[in-house]
Amino acid sequence: MNKRKKTIKNSIIIAGPCAAESKEQILASAKEAQKRKIDFMRICLWKPRTKPGFDGLGKSEIPFLTEVVKMGINPAIEVLLPSHAKAVMDAVLPVLKNGKLLLWIGSRNQNHLIQQQIAKVASKDKRVVLMVKNQPWADEKHWEGIIEHVLAGGISRDCLILCHRGFIPNGHNPLKLRNMPDYEMSMRIKMKTDLPIVFDPSHTGGSIPNILEMTKQAAKHDFDGVMVEVHVNPQNALTDAKQQLTWEQFDKLFKTYRR
Ligand code: PEP
Ligand code: MN
Repeated sequence: MNKRKKTIKNSIIIAGPCAAESKEQILASAKEAQKRKIDFMRICLWKPRTKPGFDGLGKSEIPFLTEVVKMGINPAIEVLLPSHAKAVMDAVLPVLKNGKLLLWIGSRNQNHLIQQQIAKVASKDKRVVLMVKNQPWADEKHWEGIIEHVLAGGISRDCLILCHRGFIPNGHNPLKLRNMPDYEMSMRIKMKTDLPIVFDPSHTGGSIPNILEMTKQAAKHDFDGVMVEVHVNPQNALTDAKQQLTWEQFDKLFKTYRR
């Protein structure tokens, strides 16, 4: 039975660039996120992509991360391996005052053993929230399976949240969405697991007009928040340039959803 009655209107906001690109970009984003009291800022050091290219700054840039944490930012970072989770936790947790660290397992990371191992590392500190994105293909059982695997890895339910980023389009797609949302499945998963679930309008929409549309549609369902890509200079973004909002666009879109 689902007891949570939160909606996007009063819940978690994860925002920031698709990928961390440079010290300057990370610090400029952190200032914008700080002004708006964003709950978690995306700072992805590893950037899994459809084709090889810029794959993220990697571990060597972890020192910038601690600077941002010292500014009071709660980081949200995709981790692909247990060693990523450990490296980030070792650097961030000692400087994290009253905040939280969000680590997430991305859609493309569908090795169940690795999912369990990441959860095991994340479970070592209660200040770490683990977020699980759905897999790329539409399969409710698989999505439930990922959740069961991370729970088997030892993460506690109060440190676990989900994210719906849509499924690979298959057929009718009049808006030319990057990934098709399945709101009904998302709500079923939320009911069955009793876990909070955020919606990702950026990786579903794939373009600015679609992000606006996806945000409107998602607001009709009982999501517990959003994860949205916002860049200080989207035109020159190294990844996902077409779908990153400016902070001004973010303000317009989310002013009605903020606390
Ligand atoms: C992301 O959030 O940056 C990302 C790579 O998304 P996904 O795992 O949903 O493809
Ligand atoms: Mn992206």
